[in-house]
Amino acid sequence: MNAKICFIGAGNMAKSLIGGLLASGYEAKNIIATDPSEEQRQALGSQFAIESFADNNEALMHADIVVLAVKPQILRNVCAEISSTVQAGSPLVLSIAAGIRTDDIDRWLGGNLPIVRTMPNTPALIQTGATGLFANARVNDEQKSQAEHIMRATGLTLWVDTEAKIDAVTALSGSGPAYYFLFMEAMENAAEKLGLDHKTAHLLTMQTALGAAKMVMESHQDCAQLRANVTSPNGTTQKAIEHFESKQLREIVEGAMTDAYQRAQELA
Ligand code: NAP
Repeated sequence: MNAKICFIGAGNMAKSLIGGLLASGYEAKNIIATDPSEEQRQALGSQFAIESFADNNEALMHADIVVLAVKPQILRNVCAEISSTVQAGSPLVLSIAAGIRTDDIDRWLGGNLPIVRTMPNTPALIQTGATGLFANARVNDEQKSQAEHIMRATGLTLWVDTEAKIDAVTALSGSGPAYYFLFMEAMENAAEKLGLDHKTAHLLTMQTALGAAKMVMESHQDCAQLRANVTSPNGTTQKAIEHFESKQLREIVEGAMTDAYQRAQELA
């Protein structure tokens, strides 16, 4: 792929995508970015050797793909600013802005554009992200594979076939890292109450989470089977699992994710 990609906004997420694309062999001459901050633009040059602009429209002139990577609150104004240049070039529009629907982006940009909306998550910043993608009806197969190529620079990519499912992705992988942080925090606190010092509790919690995630990813067995494998009858794990089940852990998780899903719908 050698399409010219223009990132509008060169903050944390854009830099992670740019770094991942370059690491995968994408040519620096085919990536440009814009940012209002002079310091940020200089950093793009020294860190990635890519061209950068203060003016969004100037940068967009030759772009085949525009990646909208500004904060959601300012996206509408940014779209208004660039709409005539985008209409003239008709590039593929890829949005990473949380909670903004493709119909809104299309309307703000003047209409009739191929738009892919994505929902990345924070681990994308360390190339271990999980991104859900949705394409509107104007996106062709080649553009779908271009969008996927860009987002794969930060980790796993999966397509969903309706935009409503992006809200489910938000409730799962979008907000999901925080669920694991909470669970790990609770495990650390409990371990300290059982007598371990903070550092030992922290290191054992992290390594256990990593090990469990790797086992699920590398094994051909599902989570329920892996859990059964380590739960001996009347052993320590069984006691803990029985406690979780008696406190309705599954219902708690379902309720939490349903709340997150509904909030995502309200925000969009
Ligand atoms: P960020 O670090 O704040 O990056 C946004 C960048 O856009 C900043 O460098 C900002 O510059 C620049 N900017 C502001 N106004 C601009 C304009 N008019 N034209 C061009 N650039 C402009 O934010 P981020 O964390 O990368 O998030 C970017 C998008 O990714 C958001 O829409 C967010 O919803 C989405 N997202 C992020 C994450 C995550 O984990 N970070 C996860 C999922 C989705 P200044 O700082 O100088 O204002």
